[in-house]
Amino acid sequence: MQILHQFTGSVQQYLEQLSDPDQHRPACCPQCPAPVPLTAHGFYSRTIIDAAFDGVIRVRRYLCEACRRTVSLLPEFALPYLRSSLAVIAWWLMVHFLPASPPPAPAPPPMPYQRGQFWLRRFRAQAAALCVALAGLTTPAPAPNFVQRALAMLTTAGWTPAHRFLFADLRQHLLGWPPSLVPDGRRVTLPAAPA
Ligand SMILES: [Zn+2]
Repeated sequence: MQILHQFTGSVQQYLEQLSDPDQHRPACCPQCPAPVPLTAHGFYSRTIIDAAFDGVIRVRRYLCEACRRTVSLLPEFALPYLRSSLAVIAWWLMVHFLPASPPPAPAPPPMPYQRGQFWLRRFRAQAAALCVALAGLTTPAPAPNFVQRALAMLTTAGWTPAHRFLFADLRQHLLGWPPSLVPDGRRVTLPAAPA
């Protein structure tokens, strides 16, 4: 299971403080009621593309000794299952859906056209659900459609606090979970068939 690492610095600063497993160790397991601290359990690697970084980062993993399940701490600048950072995706969505408004700085590096189109499609499909969810965080904005209303609410709340609220509190993904991870980002494991 992934949970958010409440870290708001740059990618570089994230990498520098990653060596200390105690710094952000979850106080208890989010997947079972055992009141025991989690054990550091190595890392997994993933790529991240940000305005000033394009490469591999490590994501710290912890193990719950009681239920034997792992928890990984995803930094807040990353979205689960997407290679580009939250800031890069926010920039792209703002530029394409609200071309008259100044885009958030800084501009990301150039990227494949198809990738941006994929985000636009996913965001459009998610917009109504985002408006409903974000009403728990900020006042709904008057806008001609759900896409513009969702963007206005994300801008007012701040993209990182909104991502934190959606993911940490509601287990909702800004661009929607892949089909295998609906509804809350956890893989559903079916019980083994009786022999
Ligand atoms: Zn547990």
